[in-house]
Amino acid sequence: MDIERGAIYCGELEDGAPVTIPYFIMRGTRKKPVLLLNAALHGEELNGIEVIMRLTEKIDPDHLHGTIVGVPVVNTLAFRARSRIDPIDGKDLNRVFPGKKDGTVTERVAYHFFHHLVKKATFGIDLHTGMKGHLLIPHPRVRVRKDFSPSIEYARALGTEIIFYHEGAQGMLTIEAGKMGVPVVCFEIGEAGRLDEYFIDAGIRGITNFMKYFGMLEGKPEIPDKQILLKDYKELVSRAGGLFYPKVSAGDVVKKNHLIGVIKSPITGEKHPLRAPQDCLIIGIRSQPVVRVGTSVAWLMTFEEGNLLPPLKNRKLRKKSSKTVSMTEEKGIKLTE
Ligand SMILES: [Zn+2]
Repeated sequence: MDIERGAIYCGELEDGAPVTIPYFIMRGTRKKPVLLLNAALHGEELNGIEVIMRLTEKIDPDHLHGTIVGVPVVNTLAFRARSRIDPIDGKDLNRVFPGKKDGTVTERVAYHFFHHLVKKATFGIDLHTGMKGHLLIPHPRVRVRKDFSPSIEYARALGTEIIFYHEGAQGMLTIEAGKMGVPVVCFEIGEAGRLDEYFIDAGIRGITNFMKYFGMLEGKPEIPDKQILLKDYKELVSRAGGLFYPKVSAGDVVKKNHLIGVIKSPITGEKHPLRAPQDCLIIGIRSQPVVRVGTSVAWLMTFEEGNLLPPLKNRKLRKKSSKTVSMTEEKGIKLTE
């Protein structure tokens, strides 16, 4: 058998049912490197699950140089509940790494996942999406802390146009694994609660690029010659209640004062326009129209000095142009290295 399947026992529920982490191992022509692919640390984030399943169908172990350890659903309890977290436990799995051996069920899942699978990997890709109603364009998130500033090369190897570099929270998988010497890249693709072909495709492309970049698959990774590093993240919130009508799409580049969307009261018909506070990229947009005052409706990344990364060297790459960079040029927004 080319694929070995197993499950790690983490503990037991009210009725004696076991809590496990189901995984598989795909062995290639050699043992190393070991790539850990996981999805659904948050149980309602589905695109990544599909990405991992499709990759296992697509990749021929005879052409795989290394090992893939796949965990399509890490947080099975939250997955069953169609929820971000397990509603009984109440803990966010992606805030409790490296977990606790004798903790709550979620903390135990973190512990076993971390110690039995993450620690044994050379590197990993942790697939996420925006929350429900919060659609994010495909991009990696490099999370930093005061005592931890990881290399961005792993994130760049996915070949996305945008890389987000931002302060993370304690207990995030990428941070705790990185501190231990296992680089794990958080890859955002789309929106929770949905399977969407565009984002599934982007996920498969990103992981395939990563594997080519690190020699696990033959061929040249396709990476834009100009990748953009963004650090400044802003949420645009509604100033009124009603229905939100977006006037831009995720991925658009807009100038300051551009109309982002309109909130219309279903009671009075009154309209409240929302405009871009600065020149920015729309990294995410609200996909569910009902909002109240203070609801986030758009997620923006603003351009500053030094957003353009120098080209990646030392590897054979298949270069492609960046749509985001062309959009900034068309709008007269200057990006610098
Ligand atoms: Zn998530």
